[in-house]
Amino acid sequence: MTPLPTATDCRNKTKVVEKGCQLCPRRCSARRRAGERGICGADDSLRVARAALHFWEEPPISGWGADAADGGACGSGAAAQGGARDGAMARGGGARDGGARDGGAVAQGGACGSGAAAQGGARDGGAVARDVAATRSGDNARAGSGAVFFCNCPLHCVYCQNQAISSGLAGAAISVRRLADIFCELQAQGAQNINLVTPTQYLPQIRRALTRARRAGLHLPIVYNTSGYERPELIATLAGCVDIFLTDFRYATAELATRYSQAPDYPQVALAALQVMRQVAGDYRLDSAGILKSGIIVRFLLLPGHLEEARQALATVFSLLKNEVCYSLMNQFTPLPELERHPELNRSVSDDEYDALIDFALELGITNSFMQEGATASESYIPPFDLTGVLVGL
Ligand code: SF4
Repeated sequence: MTPLPTATDCRNKTKVVEKGCQLCPRRCSARRRAGERGICGADDSLRVARAALHFWEEPPISGWGADAADGGACGSGAAAQGGARDGAMARGGGARDGGARDGGAVAQGGACGSGAAAQGGARDGGAVARDVAATRSGDNARAGSGAVFFCNCPLHCVYCQNQAISSGLAGAAISVRRLADIFCELQAQGAQNINLVTPTQYLPQIRRALTRARRAGLHLPIVYNTSGYERPELIATLAGCVDIFLTDFRYATAELATRYSQAPDYPQVALAALQVMRQVAGDYRLDSAGILKSGIIVRFLLLPGHLEEARQALATVFSLLKNEVCYSLMNQFTPLPELERHPELNRSVSDDEYDALIDFALELGITNSFMQEGATASESYIPPFDLTGVLVGL
């Protein structure tokens, strides 16, 4: 286990951009201050594509209110959320297999967000779940996560659902001061957290902006929303700065990590980073309204034809962290035109594949999880990267 760093370590580590960037596991040494771009595509400018309330994360992040549930759109957690609201969670389980075991799956879905909802769903079906949701939707209805979408990305997966920003084509350069203002504006809009989406390549600027925003009254939990491809040493520097990690665990094998992300070291690097995230974020902790205040949600995006890889990834993380974290099983993979060179990925995930992954999660003993309903596989879950909330007046 990597020991947490001293304050001096933190200061030194966040200066790496000045001497050639080492912020992510690529460690490409781009001299960004001199105008060079790294493998991630970032140079010295801080680029953001969207800053707005976001309702499509897992319910403990986005809230249990009407917007998220209606979304159907909800990426992760749609099943759990839908169930909490109108029985869809129970229905989802029934539709898949109809058996008692799926009652357990429903319970698992809710367990992540709310033990009460989970028990309700499992014991009494949708009606009880609805009641719980009615209680839950009070203060958090329509709250949303204060998502800031940063441009560029160190991982560059071939199937990236956010290529408009990961490729650097969208977005605008802003100052650290403006980023601090954005954080405060999202808080004023009612966000229940600040959700830093793909932040790694801008860590020094984000730290400065957070410090500035805290001085101006920012008090929300900070969510670090990442592909999981992170240097453990850098994650350790986030102690006291980040409260929640919303992280992927994409590959169990170097083979697939190489084929789709040119990152053969992903499995061991991401696993080491996850261990440090556990230290930094502490226990999975919800408030009385089911909103996450600290802890980790690990996402597993099932790729078509790669059920075994997803099983292995799930088993790897569960062997390390058991039910100390929440598991988000995602079937929302969307085939995009850019995937012509990878025809095996040119389809959605089948119900059979996804059901098999859920079954496997149950067999492992996972009790904190979210699953998605089939309709979540749609490009409509990708928000418009139109500079909303980025520039003053937009
Ligand atoms: S964050 Fe970007 S510039 Fe820095 S090491 Fe990673 S790929 Fe290179």
